[in-house]
Amino acid sequence: MTIKKKTKYLTAEQAGAKPERLMGPHGPLRMFSATKFASSIYYESRDWNGFAGSYVCDQCLQPEGAGVYRVDDKWLCGGCKEAIRKANKRSRKASLVLQ
Ligand SMILES: [Zn+2]
Repeated sequence: MTIKKKTKYLTAEQAGAKPERLMGPHGPLRMFSATKFASSIYYESRDWNGFAGSYVCDQCLQPEGAGVYRVDDKWLCGGCKEAIRKANKRSRKASLVLQ
């Protein structure tokens, strides 16, 4: 006799999770739903009551499992952070040439 113990959670999409700023206007976006979904944790605060999942990049709006980084006033994934760093480097170089 085998006991099937496989709990299948809804995906964030199936649970209707949406990016929300759970930690206030200056905090990062995070997938959030009133329904439990895969790799979500129960989250309760003054304004929110439900399940929170991955952080979401402010730039590409993709859920980022590895976390997001604060860059200026935005929260970015590794890829977008790197793209901005490169763009800043280029514009610094350009302004050096102009001087
Ligand atoms: Zn991104």
